Amino acid sequence: MASVDLVIRNARILDGTGAALREGDVAVVGGRINAVGAVGDVDAATTIDAAGAVLSPGFVDVHTHDDGALLRHPDLAFKLSQGCTSLVVGNCGFSAAPAVPGERDPSKLLGVTATWSDLTGYAAAVAGARPACNAVALVGHNTVRRLVLGLERRAPTAAELDRMRAEVRLAMAQGACGFSTGLIYEPGRYSETDELIVLAREAAEAGGLYATHLRNEGDRLLDAVEEALTIGREAGLPVQISHHKSAGARNWGKVGASLERIDRANAEGLDVTADVYPYTAGSGPMAQYFNLDRLDPDLAAVIRFASCPALRELEGRNCVDVAAEWAVPPTEVIRRVLTAERGADTICIQVIIDEADVETNLRHPRMMVGSDGIVDLGGRPHPRLFGTFPRVLGHYVRERNVLGLADAVRRMTSLSCDRFGLVDRGRVVEGAWADLVLFDDATIADRATYDEPKRESDGIRLVCVNGEIAYRDGAHTGVGAGRMLMFSPR
Ligand SMILES: [Zn+2]
Repeated sequence: MASVDLVIRNARILDGTGAALREGDVAVVGGRINAVGAVGDVDAATTIDAAGAVLSPGFVDVHTHDDGALLRHPDLAFKLSQGCTSLVVGNCGFSAAPAVPGERDPSKLLGVTATWSDLTGYAAAVAGARPACNAVALVGHNTVRRLVLGLERRAPTAAELDRMRAEVRLAMAQGACGFSTGLIYEPGRYSETDELIVLAREAAEAGGLYATHLRNEGDRLLDAVEEALTIGREAGLPVQISHHKSAGARNWGKVGASLERIDRANAEGLDVTADVYPYTAGSGPMAQYFNLDRLDPDLAAVIRFASCPALRELEGRNCVDVAAEWAVPPTEVIRRVLTAERGADTICIQVIIDEADVETNLRHPRMMVGSDGIVDLGGRPHPRLFGTFPRVLGHYVRERNVLGLADAVRRMTSLSCDRFGLVDRGRVVEGAWADLVLFDDATIADRATYDEPKRESDGIRLVCVNGEIAYRDGAHTGVGAGRMLMFSPR
């Protein structure tokens, strides 16, 4: 009798390609899928009866800020418990590498002090932490620009631009999957399009992609999409529009026009995809969203405090409620928080997205799923950190019928792996790495809410990473089988 490490029997298999469910078994040997279909008698170290649950490739969170979490929280419970087995880090222009050893991450997003200078050093640190999930890195523009010219509000000199190019080229040579920007943030917002084209060319030469938090997601969304398309065209590489949205009530509905523009670009020969998180609120470092000289009252009115080291009692509260209690306008609450000691470390949640736009995004066949979660487990993080993938499958697939189950899984698995260069992953086929999730499609649901954001989801029965069981029936096994993956161009 053949012997295998693991066999999962009586599953309804979604192979990740978008093909329909089919019943069968999956066997795993040496971390890889060894057989799919009717697996006969085998001598298995572990046998799981799926009892009709859905078995699919593990989900890929294509938009994370988990660069620091891979080291600070290598158990990655908030990711495993929603079925994620691989993570793309380095988004929005902020990456853990390159870095100055000994310097604490200045972005306020990653929460880690570098012991490395480049991606190889960072990857070694991650490997040493034995994380529960796989990860692949983008190299971030904000990180590279800050390293070379600090927070200066000017174009780089020719010599500075050469240094920035060299950093991007080095990261790509060390396994980065592409170049990311966050053009609303410091110092990325001081850059002109030409600078980005030059840097994106370095990623293009290595076969990588351009992932962008657009320069504007509100009044000038369409101009910002145009800039991203220009960079893709001029630098010659695929474009990923990160957390696609139209922000602010007066802009709601614009995602339709933006997706039409993306469709037209694809028809013209560019290669453009996007990702979305299934919520109507964003979240990020509050200091980056406000100008103390003219605080935006519309934005202040929709702010909720996630992490607030300056005033912990505000965590989980809405700015307008605090304003009423303090008998001041909401903008004054924002001012007091931002000017307090450690006020710059505040992470806020802002309710700025229309529910109909979330559904428009999720309907699009080139739309992937990315949580954009910010890992501060001490505060009250946005519930997307724990709930994103089950929320898509439970609320938007089962309850709202916005997209089909097989298509949703395709866009969480094979599409994402192909896009970000994760080779031999994202499909349930013989020979692929055994990154697998077993879930009950009738009960899968997110349980994390804005008030209780750290609740793990329902319906995830089993998660395997590289063939090892990392999560089973609500329990984390503590196995750290994840790897830092090196990008391979298709
Ligand atoms: Zn972003």
